[in-house]
Amino acid sequence: MRVVKPKPQRLQVSQRAVLALGSNLGDREATLEAAVRDIGAIDGVHVESVSSLVESAAVKPSGVDRAAPSYLNAVMLVRSVIGPEQLLDAVNAIEDRHGRVREERWGDRTLDIDIIAFDGVQRADDRLTLPHPRAAERAFVVQPWLEIDPAATLPGIGPVADLPAASDGSVRRVTNRDDR
Ligand code: AMP
Repeated sequence: MRVVKPKPQRLQVSQRAVLALGSNLGDREATLEAAVRDIGAIDGVHVESVSSLVESAAVKPSGVDRAAPSYLNAVMLVRSVIGPEQLLDAVNAIEDRHGRVREERWGDRTLDIDIIAFDGVQRADDRLTLPHPRAAERAFVVQPWLEIDPAATLPGIGPVADLPAASDGSVRRVTNRDDR
């Protein structure tokens, strides 16, 4: 009897990642919408949810800069079968396609995409720090994240809802995610 061997199947285990998007130059809303579409088109990435857009004043290393154009930000939950470095490469390529120029640290930008968390991964090296080291203190990350995942936790830190940034009044919602 001829034994038919089943075709080997590649087991694709997906992990959950949290991405934060920001823009303070050009048509910010159009850029963020295009970036959401581009992230959904990354091979191996599936978008689970996208927050409302929130607006806040630009923050520079010296503090809040009210003279700089304000930011629109959003947070996305994705499932990824690619690893964190590949995901970073893919989101950096999307930033570049949207005209991102890396000059001044925390300078104005058409598009910034940060990986806030990647599953429970905790690491810090030249390339990537996870969870993102400043995520916990940024209301423009924490508040839209809680909108789409009220039970969110930051690996090594704890429930996002307990962070002071969850209740500070520095950001305002400008679109409802149901309108998108
Ligand atoms: P920025 O100019 O703020 O977008 O920083 C981008 C650089 O920060 C990237 O080229 C990464 O190598 C590095 N980086 C470190 N950790 C992260 C992270 N969690 N998400 C995004 N970029 C990161």
